[in-house]
Amino acid sequence: MIVTRFAPSPTGRLHVGNVRTALLNWLLARKEGGRFILRLDDTDTQRSTEAFAQSIRDDLAWLGMAPDAEEKQSARMDRYEAVLSELAAAGHVYRAYETPEELELKRKVLLGRGLPPVYDRAALSLTEADHARYEAEGRRPHWRFRLDPALPHQWDDLVRGPSHIDPASLSDPVIRRADGSWLYMLPSVIDDVDMGITHVVRGEDHVTNTGVQLQMFAAMGKPAPHFGHAALLTGADGALSKRLGSIGVSEFRARGIEPLAVKALLARLGTSLPVEPVTSDEPLIDSFDIANLGRATARFDETELERLNASILHQTDHAAISGRVSLTETEWLAVRGNVSTLAEAESWKAVITGPIIASAPAEEDRAYLAEAARILAGLAFGPEVWAELTDALKAATGRKGKGLFMPLRLALTGKANGPDMAALLPLIGREEALRRLAA
Ligand code: GLU
Repeated sequence: MIVTRFAPSPTGRLHVGNVRTALLNWLLARKEGGRFILRLDDTDTQRSTEAFAQSIRDDLAWLGMAPDAEEKQSARMDRYEAVLSELAAAGHVYRAYETPEELELKRKVLLGRGLPPVYDRAALSLTEADHARYEAEGRRPHWRFRLDPALPHQWDDLVRGPSHIDPASLSDPVIRRADGSWLYMLPSVIDDVDMGITHVVRGEDHVTNTGVQLQMFAAMGKPAPHFGHAALLTGADGALSKRLGSIGVSEFRARGIEPLAVKALLARLGTSLPVEPVTSDEPLIDSFDIANLGRATARFDETELERLNASILHQTDHAAISGRVSLTETEWLAVRGNVSTLAEAESWKAVITGPIIASAPAEEDRAYLAEAARILAGLAFGPEVWAELTDALKAATGRKGKGLFMPLRLALTGKANGPDMAALLPLIGREEALRRLAA
């Protein structure tokens, strides 16, 4: 069975890039009948908060992507400790004592000689006596993972195809700080093993991490999951804009964007499939194939999201939104083609029920509106009432086109644009329509 995970750090709110990563993992799990796990990477106890963790849960729930299970790294510290001991016994990890200043100096010397600034592994030659001496001095070690050309470092990326790192060109990564706190790399691998993760889908900023983590899976004697790295999102202008980092679910909600629109756009961005106004998750799930993702950066365009939101609403059945707006089915069908958000639909409900605020009619339209009221009073208020009214007015006044319709629309809705009057007028009703024409 396929098991995927979305692994944010609860140190801030999700932004659109995180939402896309979550969505890709969710789609993969749903498509294959698998499980989708939310793993909170909260080893950074200074910056992680329960409030951010809750905002992540809330955002996923709003998106309709609630996880099948939740895990927290902060609850698994004993396990990480145990694996570290095993890896130490097998020589895959080692203690080092260099201060940041010493490391910086080493880097500068190497760069000065035109060499790559790779850690020289001086700590590997420390003897037990050296360790004892450091300990006696009150110095605490940090831990590094020993990269090894003999361990696997290539993989067939689900998006990028055959990929590899060169273990010799990288510094042995620090996996645990001197204060005992964990960096992300090793705990993530231990979790992926313990939680049976089969597929890791994340942003391409993690490609190098993947090469390193493959070595960690091997060092633990465990098979690695499949990895796929999605190209990053850019703003509409093609740049890795700062703004994208601030757009998230609260912004979508405030702007009346539907969860489905977010999913419909992000599921297809950067893929070979077109963005389509779907009315349910199913077509997105059914058509999902991680191999459809391309290697080029994908543009996230807020105007495209707004347009997509509108076209989705234009096709949405009343049943799908009935709990969220006060419009009846007939009212919804009358207005949906003209709205970009549900809030706009709600404002049409207010126009239908009234009272409305309409500006006083132009001088030359007063007699015309009085005539319209007189004719309307004599008509049966059926579905054809708008056609009957305008036909009769055309015959009586000789008006046509805009001169015929616009004064009526303005008087009856207070607005110059909107849904088809033929659908609106029966909903406004006889009494209210006559009142508006007379006003
Ligand atoms: N917490 C990591 C991040 O947000 C998780 C990366 C991963 O998916 O492994 O970047």
